[in-house]
Amino acid sequence: MNAPDHRLGKPDIALTDALMAAFAMFSLKSPSLLAFDQERTDGNLQRLYGLQRVPCDTAMREILDPVQPKALRPLFQAIFRALQRGKALEAMLFVEGHYLLALDGTGYFSSQQIHCESCLERHHRNGTITYAHQMLGAALIHPDRRAVIPLMPEPIVKHDGTEKNDCEREAAKRLIVQLRQDHPHLPLIVTEDSLSSNAPHIQVLQEHHVHYILGVKEGDHAYLFAQVAAAEHAGRVTYYDRDDPETGLRHRFRFISDMPLNESHTDLRVNFLECWEWEQDKVQHFSWVTDLRVNKGTVYQIMRGGRARWRIENETFNTLKNQGYHFEHNYGHGYQHLSVVFAVLMLLAFLVDQVQQLCCPLFQAVWAKLGSKRRLWERMRAFFYAYVLTSMRQLFEALFYGLQKMAPIFAVDSS
Ligand SMILES: [Zn+2]
Repeated sequence: MNAPDHRLGKPDIALTDALMAAFAMFSLKSPSLLAFDQERTDGNLQRLYGLQRVPCDTAMREILDPVQPKALRPLFQAIFRALQRGKALEAMLFVEGHYLLALDGTGYFSSQQIHCESCLERHHRNGTITYAHQMLGAALIHPDRRAVIPLMPEPIVKHDGTEKNDCEREAAKRLIVQLRQDHPHLPLIVTEDSLSSNAPHIQVLQEHHVHYILGVKEGDHAYLFAQVAAAEHAGRVTYYDRDDPETGLRHRFRFISDMPLNESHTDLRVNFLECWEWEQDKVQHFSWVTDLRVNKGTVYQIMRGGRARWRIENETFNTLKNQGYHFEHNYGHGYQHLSVVFAVLMLLAFLVDQVQQLCCPLFQAVWAKLGSKRRLWERMRAFFYAYVLTSMRQLFEALFYGLQKMAPIFAVDSS
């Protein structure tokens, strides 16, 4: 972890060690900073996470609070590049050489008392203030894969020296601009919910050569739906039915190209598609706009791309909140950036776990054996604190083979 140190002189504990200690805390899914501090046994942290000196919880907070979250961006890029080089990303290809990128905002902190310089503020009529943190998450997803590859998230925060609250739309703009700086040629199709189906956002996507599949709702996009209804009367829409014998699902699609997004942006033309899905007597309905060409050959895949968006909510944010990562848990808020830095490092630990899930047969075997991630993290933590270990690989081999059988295996392991 190489981030510029904000401190002068020669500090006792390197910034790298403080960052890595926080990363290890999230990697081990420690329920709190205090638990991490009390349980740490010097030795394993050094060998498995490469720390030199382990900071106590107070030192970790003090060192990390002034760190600019954007200094952590290269860490996400380094992992992404390694995935690209190792051809692991190819498993995530969606259609025609393009990756599907889901964007979604989430809140992870809210309080009436605890707050920092980065907190969003909501002032209530009775004079109280609610402080909150949100971020815009971005992750490569695939309809057929559980693993997701999160990119550096965009924090939604109050910016230095301003009184104005940030918002998801501004964060989305920053994220797309930065994304194109980091990955100028990555072929992308963005998938988002209906809040994102507005002209300024679609223009940002177009300017940065990012394709899109964005949800639309009749309530929010009345003009568009009225135009589609008019086109239907004129016999210009296409219907297409497709039954899936494997799943027993029946689909009906309705689509039309070159529609105006809304009344104030009639020059912004989008392709419109709708899908009804029957499972026995249950019907679900979805609708999107896209710049991808919609026809009978493509509409099914576009629908799957649009619906895969739930993976960022479900496989990412809900996993972080419910599967042992303690995303909403308070590890300490700090005065400047600590809360954001912790959230970003937690997402980084999640990324590393996802990479293991995607690429590492040993991790996959341990996960299958233990049956759930929650159990996997529990066992991992128990072993980490109970035994002297030499490598992460040794830890996972112990989880898979058991400690009894592991000794002779390590005797011949030369890696
Ligand atoms: Zn705050």
